[in-house]
Amino acid sequence: MEMFIEPQKQLPVYGSYDTVVAGGGFAGVAAALAAARGGNRVLLCEKMFVLGGLGTAGLVTIYLPLCDGKGHQLSFGIAEELLKASIADGYEASYPKAWLENGSLEERISHRYYVRYNATACVIAMEKLLLQAGVEILYGTSVCEVSVEDGRITHLILENKSGRSAVKVGNVIDCTGDADICHFAGEETVNHGAGNVLAAWFYYCDEMGNHLKTFGATDYGAEVEGTKEYNAMAEHRYYFGLDARELSDMVLASHKSVHNYFLKDEKLSQNHMLTSIASIPQVRMTRRLVGKYTMTKSDDHKQFADSVGMFGNWRGSGIGEIYELPYSALYGRKVKNLAVAGRCISADDPMWDVTRVIPVCAVSGQAVGTAAAISQDFCDINIVKLQEKLVKDGVKLHNV
Ligand SMILES: Cc1cc2nc3c(=O)[nH]c(=O)nc-3n(C[C@H](O)[C@H](O)[C@H](O)COP(=O)(O)OP(=O)(O)OC[C@H]3O[C@@H](n4cnc5c(N)ncnc54)[C@H](O)[C@@H]3O)c2cc1C
Repeated sequence: MEMFIEPQKQLPVYGSYDTVVAGGGFAGVAAALAAARGGNRVLLCEKMFVLGGLGTAGLVTIYLPLCDGKGHQLSFGIAEELLKASIADGYEASYPKAWLENGSLEERISHRYYVRYNATACVIAMEKLLLQAGVEILYGTSVCEVSVEDGRITHLILENKSGRSAVKVGNVIDCTGDADICHFAGEETVNHGAGNVLAAWFYYCDEMGNHLKTFGATDYGAEVEGTKEYNAMAEHRYYFGLDARELSDMVLASHKSVHNYFLKDEKLSQNHMLTSIASIPQVRMTRRLVGKYTMTKSDDHKQFADSVGMFGNWRGSGIGEIYELPYSALYGRKVKNLAVAGRCISADDPMWDVTRVIPVCAVSGQAVGTAAAISQDFCDINIVKLQEKLVKDGVKLHNV
């Protein structure tokens, strides 16, 4: 490949922050909230102009369960606060009445603690929470490089409408979903083995209202040849989500699938039209941190001395599974003041499918945000102090 050497240049220093959170999906929102509430000066850099990431711009508007499927809540604290915030101005479907209105155990078993929320209302609710906590939100801003000295990130390089600038950091939380900051900083990462099936979740309206179509919800093998879905998704290719050309191809294929499925086959009218397509690529698992500890499915019902929260398995086949989140799955071995939260925490491929969902993103976000306010270096944390603070803030650490 032909190469070009980028000329060296001086960059203005935008500011100095105790904590910079890169990425404003559910993980980034939880991390920024926890760090700011812990007393840190926090900057949240988000390359889009909305919060929520896949959970809003990606139209993935199902806040999966906070419970184990047997009537017991596992995820508390900010994970529950964000679920409630997402429906503060109305919900789309599956209101968890049994959980929010003191239902019986039987009712909690028959309706897991999840909800379908409205993306727009959720964005605004999360903005309000962050601003109340004193977080500075910088939209339209990509973190595109880092400067590392003696195993610590000193500055992040930002790119936005003003051009390039640097920001001086105490510590950094990588909530990019793709472990971008870990990758830039030379922290150990690994890519997902199988890649992602094409997804094309979209909204359409008809006489009955506005609906989410979870198009491409399943693996290709589960689709039935000859059906409308199968034909619209016929380019069966797997996407890894880390290459600009491939991501563009994926989004183009996703738009084409929506078009094939919806616009060609249905009669259009004012009561029947597309209302939204995703403005962020719908990739599930791309690149993640290789943490000090890597979670696996065998961690079900395992107790961790460094647990910083709990979560279940959202799948119907995972009912009754209970996981404690070890703090050591949230930071690596090379860069002291860098931690991750969200869909790029340290979990092997089968476990990744469990950890990537919104409640776990919020649980991990709260854990590292709280840690960021206790110590600049994530590897040197006083775990007891961190756990005490999390418990004080409503988090349940152990399955006892
Ligand atoms: C098709 C599909 C269906 C799914 N279904 C569900 C479901 O039903 N329920 C559920 O709970 N989960 C579901 N998930 C998973 C879930 O939506 C995501 O894994 C979760 O929302 C990820 O949150 P996150 O904050 O870790 O990352 P993301 O939501 O990916 O957020 C990352 C944010 O970082 C920003 N960013 C990225 N790089 C940079 C950078 N360098 N600088 C600045 N900003 C950056 C992005 O713009 C984005 O806003 C689904 C995912 C997909 C793709």
